[in-house]
Amino acid sequence: MTSSIRPVQASGDRQVQLQRTQIGPLERLELRVRHGNHPTVAIANIYRLGRTLFDAGFFYAEQALLQALESDWPERVLLTHHHEDHVASLAALRDRNPDLEIWAPAELAPLVERGWPDPGPVRGHFWGPAAPVSAVSGYAPDAVFREGDVTITAIPTPGHCPYHCGFIIDHQQGRFVLTGDLYYRRKPLSIWYEASAPDAIASLRRVAALGEDVTILPYHLDPINGPDAFLQQADWIEREAEKVLKAAEQLGSRDPARIAEHLYGPPDVFERATGGEINKAAFVRSVLDPVRDLPATPIPV
Ligand SMILES: [Zn+2]
Repeated sequence: MTSSIRPVQASGDRQVQLQRTQIGPLERLELRVRHGNHPTVAIANIYRLGRTLFDAGFFYAEQALLQALESDWPERVLLTHHHEDHVASLAALRDRNPDLEIWAPAELAPLVERGWPDPGPVRGHFWGPAAPVSAVSGYAPDAVFREGDVTITAIPTPGHCPYHCGFIIDHQQGRFVLTGDLYYRRKPLSIWYEASAPDAIASLRRVAALGEDVTILPYHLDPINGPDAFLQQADWIEREAEKVLKAAEQLGSRDPARIAEHLYGPPDVFERATGGEINKAAFVRSVLDPVRDLPATPIPV
C-alpha cells in the first residue's frame, strides 16, 4: 500500500486532543484540533463498534487517531460520504492492516479512492488533505452489515451531498443512528456546494421517523437524544426555502449569488475565502437547483 501523502505530525501551533467515551455499545473517539488562536476548533467524532469503525477522521488528527487504535486495529471502515474530513486516515489504517475493508456509498467509492491531495486554502488549513486509497467497496443505500450479533443498516441521507448515507445500529441498549454530515449545525445557511434542500428535508424526517428514543450521533457534534432537533431543522429549511423561491420570483432571477445577497446581505470574509465551496449562495442553489449528482460546480461569490 503506497500513498502520495505521508502522515506527518500536526505542526507546532496546532493542539490535538482525543477523548474516548462509551455511548451504549459504541466507543466514541472525539478528535479536536485547535489551530493556533483561531476560535473555531476542528471536531470530528469517529465511532467504533467491535471491529468496525465509522468514518476515518481528518489529517491533522491522524496521529492521535492511530495512537488510539494501535492496540487493536479495526478490520472494517464504513463511510458516510467522501469528504476529506471523513476519509483522511484510511490510507494509514490500511498500511497498519492490509486486510482492512473500506466501504463507501457505491457512487462515492471512486471519489474516496481519489482522495483530496489539495482541498484548497480554507479546508486545507482546517482539515488538511486526504491521501488516495485503493480497493474501496461500494454499498447500496439499504445495505445491511453484521458486527457480531449486532445489525448495522445503512439509511440513505442525501442533502449535505448526493449519495450520503447514515447507519442504524439496533442493540439491546437502544437504537443509535450515525448521521455523518446530515446535521452539523442548527441553521445551515452558509453550506457546502454539493447540497440539496429537498433531499436534506426528506433525510432529516427519515431519521426523525426512526423513533422517539433514538440516539443520534452526528460526526461534528455531541450526541443528540430524540428526533426533535432534526424535525426542527427540516421545518426551518422548508421555511427558508420558501423565502428563496419568493425572492427568485420577485427578482426575476435564478442567480444564486444575487438572490443570496438580496436575502442575506453581501458574502462575509469566510465565504469569499472558500473559492465558492461554502456560502449562502449554495443554500439558495440547493433550493432552486438541488445537486443530485457529482461533480457539482462551486458558486463563486
Ligand atoms: Zn461532508
